[in-house]
Amino acid sequence: MSNSHPPRVIPVHDLRPGALPIPLSSAGIRRAPGLATSDTLGRPLRDLRISVTDRCNFRCSYCMPKEVFDKDYQYLPQSALLSFEEIVQVAREFVGLGVQKIRLTGGEPLLRKNLELLIAQLGTLRTPEGQALDMTLTTNGALLARKAQALRDAGLQRVTVSLDGLDDRIFRQMNDVDFPVSEVLKGIEAAQAAGLGPIKVNMVVKRGTNDHEILPMARHFRGTGIVLRFIEYMDVGATNGWCMDEVLPSAQVIARLQTEFSLLPMQAFAPGETAQRWAYADAQGQPDAHAGEIGVISSVTQAFCGDCNRARLSTEGQLYLCLFASQGYDLRSLLRGGASAQELAAAIGSIWEQRDDRYSMLRASLPPQPAAAPGRRVEMSYIGG
Ligand code: SF4
Repeated sequence: MSNSHPPRVIPVHDLRPGALPIPLSSAGIRRAPGLATSDTLGRPLRDLRISVTDRCNFRCSYCMPKEVFDKDYQYLPQSALLSFEEIVQVAREFVGLGVQKIRLTGGEPLLRKNLELLIAQLGTLRTPEGQALDMTLTTNGALLARKAQALRDAGLQRVTVSLDGLDDRIFRQMNDVDFPVSEVLKGIEAAQAAGLGPIKVNMVVKRGTNDHEILPMARHFRGTGIVLRFIEYMDVGATNGWCMDEVLPSAQVIARLQTEFSLLPMQAFAPGETAQRWAYADAQGQPDAHAGEIGVISSVTQAFCGDCNRARLSTEGQLYLCLFASQGYDLRSLLRGGASAQELAAAIGSIWEQRDDRYSMLRASLPPQPAAAPGRRVEMSYIGG
């Protein structure tokens, strides 16, 4: 394991950029059933990621490095966070504009008190066609064993658990708070027992740190009904000291897996899906339903911006149009300024309609990011992965 890379950038305490002005347009009024608001690249608004806290109980080096998010880091005060009622108010307008899937994120969402109440409230929302929403959550699993049943009872359908290795020493090194793998595995078991599925497990692969865990992770989750996905290490935010030599391209991940398993490429479930799916093959070269599948998420080497239909709502109500954006749109001021549902919908619609974000597609041609806001990318822990 080598670690001969330049020291990380250690910025000042407040990493949160200012807001962009909301474009005025009469667009965004509720759409007819079946139609979603689309952006300048024709991508429909379908998926909303809601960050419910900027805090986390882990310090994963690729997301929330301890040196930056230290004991002096100023987290958002409670009053700055959107309340559950405000989140539902905003989510309702997104659903009216085409959103069908909500993912709760953070920081670590299970740190937000009474999260079940929010899930139950969001569960009452319906699409213009009268459909229930697809509701899921991304967690580091630390609190999942305790909360899985209550989340399920509140109406959550699925969970995605981040787990970067089975080797306890490596995992503790990557989460940087000395948290044991066994507790996360207990959380996954509890989620399965509660019926939160299909469960996905996301492993961020950092070359030279945990890439030797790829095969052990595949052996562990193969045949369990859990879908393991390998994520290329990304240059999110401005604090993780990212460099390309620590990226293991997904093509190499698949090649490593194929030294032991026969894999077959699969169709995406739906447009906008981030993972490329691969089925384990049986002895006849057919998909082996029992063994299941794996996925790779290749934002660095195989950008998928072409059908990216994801919007992100930060913990304090800023709307971001891309994981790698540097600024968002302040919906909280609209909300707390007494905007009507129609005004809120018009604002969201007009923001999305002028969207042209496609950072991963452009990454190679872009200049290095400035050291300070406003040009610097927002932190993933602030808007959710
Ligand atoms: S880089 Fe931005 S536009 Fe591209 S897939 Fe990711 S979030 Fe979507």
